[in-house]
Amino acid sequence: MIKFNCLRCGHFADSHGDSENLDTTIQPRIGDCMICIRCGAPHVFLGLDKLNLVRRMTFEEFAKLSNAEKTEIAKTVLMITTLPGKMSEK
Ligand SMILES: [Zn+2]
Repeated sequence: MIKFNCLRCGHFADSHGDSENLDTTIQPRIGDCMICIRCGAPHVFLGLDKLNLVRRMTFEEFAKLSNAEKTEIAKTVLMITTLPGKMSEK
């Protein structure tokens, strides 16, 4: 599991696999998308040897992803930002 400070809201977030497999033992690979559980901002994992573990994902990067990846990110962001009792309200 990787912990990172969200570059949008500052939340100390961690990686938990994806929406299908909540697995804290999964290590992200460089270039993987990591989404803040509090505000839904997508980040790109840069690697453990980098000063900043993540940076914000750009729209251009999102547009280049496969449809399956776009769907996964969109599902996760919508879940975080629209469900009652969403993390951003806490
Ligand atoms: Zn955030």
